[in-house]
Amino acid sequence: MAIQKKNTRRSFISKTVKGSLAIGASLSIAAPLLQSFTRKENYISSKFNTGFDQQALPYTYDGLENIIDAMTMEIHYSKHAAAYSKNAKEAATAEGVNIALGLEPLLCNISKYSPKMRNNGGGHYNHEMFWKCMRAKQVNNLPTGDIQAAINLAFGSFEDFKKKFSDTGKNRFGSGWAWLYIDGNKKLQISSTPNQDNPLMDVSDKKGFPLLALDVWEHAYYLKYQNKRADYIQNWWDVVNWDYVQQRMGDFKI
Ligand code: MN
Repeated sequence: MAIQKKNTRRSFISKTVKGSLAIGASLSIAAPLLQSFTRKENYISSKFNTGFDQQALPYTYDGLENIIDAMTMEIHYSKHAAAYSKNAKEAATAEGVNIALGLEPLLCNISKYSPKMRNNGGGHYNHEMFWKCMRAKQVNNLPTGDIQAAINLAFGSFEDFKKKFSDTGKNRFGSGWAWLYIDGNKKLQISSTPNQDNPLMDVSDKKGFPLLALDVWEHAYYLKYQNKRADYIQNWWDVVNWDYVQQRMGDFKI
């Protein structure tokens, strides 16, 4: 797939900064996301500040049917994810965390807190993001615009990206997540974290701002797919909300 070229600057950059977002000082990037990315304690803009309470799902429990069944969605949201939110608040209160600041500053310094805070703070953040990363099934569900261009630049093509991301999720042993994220060098990367860790955490060996999250815990798919995690991941691409991924990438340009 050819890299989308909207103008000569993009064309120039795509030829000279292969495989990297590598945003240089010469580019007029004034995005809050980029500015905040230089501050270890907060990688993100306030636009994506995540509170400790669960937000409403952006669709009904059966809104992702044929890909994720309604019963799985209901149990996942109202039991598993609700528990992470509740327990994250409990731990935050016990450990003197300022809840008003949201999850992100906490996660960036999670090594200073308890395993309960790490597991449940991560669990709550990851699920709040995961729900928004999905929407009703769409035919030919592909990224467009800047996120498409960024993926092509970093991974060669959407198909190459999709395979690498899918394999990363499939190969996560036990429970965890697959991520597309921007690293400290402004480059798109794929990683996997165990349990409820994520790339925002200082304990993560692959750090950055997450753009796309995939839950590969068995509770995310077992009722419909049983042991076939690969089938769940293959189908999941039809419900990825690329508009949301694009929003998270914010004002990054390539
Ligand atoms: Mn989950």
